[in-house]
Amino acid sequence: MYLSVLPLIIHLMTTTDTMTQPQFTVRELPYAYDALAPQVSEETLRFHHDKHYKGYIDKLNELIVDSPYAGQPLEAIIVSADGPIFNNAAQVWNHEFFFDQLSPTPQPRPTGALKEAIDRDFGSVEQLKAQMNKAAAALFGSGWVWLAEDKAGNLTIVSEQNAGNPLRHGMKPLLCLDVWEHAYYIDYRNRRADAVAALWDNIDWKKVEARFH
Ligand code: MN
Repeated sequence: MYLSVLPLIIHLMTTTDTMTQPQFTVRELPYAYDALAPQVSEETLRFHHDKHYKGYIDKLNELIVDSPYAGQPLEAIIVSADGPIFNNAAQVWNHEFFFDQLSPTPQPRPTGALKEAIDRDFGSVEQLKAQMNKAAAALFGSGWVWLAEDKAGNLTIVSEQNAGNPLRHGMKPLLCLDVWEHAYYIDYRNRRADAVAALWDNIDWKKVEARFH
């Protein structure tokens, strides 16, 4: 008798698991919430990670159920989806990429092959930063400013509105600046340029180098 109902119990357990298990889960920060202060305050990081980033995860999980994208890897969704599914998938990817490149103890400058490529394509690291700062200031509304490697192997700055991501253009993202107001408004109010300028102190070039290789 017990043996006869066992397959049913197993079936119910696995079915329930599948139904309640979200495909994407929040990735914890690789540092403490207060570790990036004063450039990024604990309050900003808590809202940015726990509310905004988590919100994109929850929304994406909700949207992909029963869609053709259910079960697909995040990057596959980003390069093929449109509308709300693209927006939320890209925002998940962008935020994980953004948080991961920051550190309270960053390698302060690029070295090796990445340094050489930056010097070749922008003149110097300082000029790259200046150009990205300028692009961040010029971006109208919400979006992201990216350093990416194009198909020919050249480094380029890509300005994207909303959830835009260089993966859509066949490029390899290396570094990103989040210029949505939620990324800086608690600490810097309307001073986006100051927020972006301060963020460079927390960019870990060791992480950026690892993406380049
Ligand atoms: Mn953000």
